[in-house]
Amino acid sequence: MEDYGILGRLEVLRGRMAAACKRAGRRPEEVRLVAVSKTYPPEMVEAAVRGGCDCFGESRLYEALPKIEACPGNLEWHFIGHLQRNKVQQVVPAFALIHAVDSLRLLERIETVAEVAGHRAAICLEVNVSGEASKFGLAPADVPAVLEAAEGMSHVDVRGLMTMAPFSPDSEAARPVFRRLRECRDRWSRQSGFALETLSMGMSNDFEAAIEEGATLVRVGTGLFGKRPAVDGRESCE
Ligand SMILES: *Cc1c(COP(=O)(O)O)cnc(C)c1O
Repeated sequence: MEDYGILGRLEVLRGRMAAACKRAGRRPEEVRLVAVSKTYPPEMVEAAVRGGCDCFGESRLYEALPKIEACPGNLEWHFIGHLQRNKVQQVVPAFALIHAVDSLRLLERIETVAEVAGHRAAICLEVNVSGEASKFGLAPADVPAVLEAAEGMSHVDVRGLMTMAPFSPDSEAARPVFRRLRECRDRWSRQSGFALETLSMGMSNDFEAAIEEGATLVRVGTGLFGKRPAVDGRESCE
């Protein structure tokens, strides 16, 4: 069966993840790989499943829903992209974790939808640690108030925090961003009622620094599936 080179890349990726854990004195089980399958077809997801992947990340709803239908039913799907409030209704039942909640209004919408669905939606708050204007995410100063509001919501489960580091070819450039997210987490978990155990940070070019700084979820796409096809004629990174 065609594996598109995925099994070989997966082995290399797992080795690098394990080595990063070792350097940081962490156990490999503490870090989960979210295989970012956006833009790749179900056949490639299935190849990754044969290699042992069981958790996949998607960022576009219109692409993800038919793909989830076409893939084996025992997989865990995470919504990692920017989420619009009018998509919450479809996202809540289909995804096990929403990584990038970036406003109180969005969180309130998720609470309402999850309540109606009789469901508890697991989420992370996206934090714009670097302060880049082009990025989504809550400013760090705004997070405590959102956490306080979330304490009054019984249908959202705030698992932790997510960040996107500024793109740089230098894999070390992102390290201070990852460290700052972890430091913020340590402070906010002391101040709030949430343990915030999940830290979703690190992508293909910087996941090792992220693991060394405390990531529990790394979101790796091209490093696993290979070069991403361009979508709609534009660069497909969010
Ligand atoms: C596409 C994407 C990734 C994966 O990026 P790669 O560089 O392909 O590993 C990770 N996180 C988010 C939010 C993404 O949109």
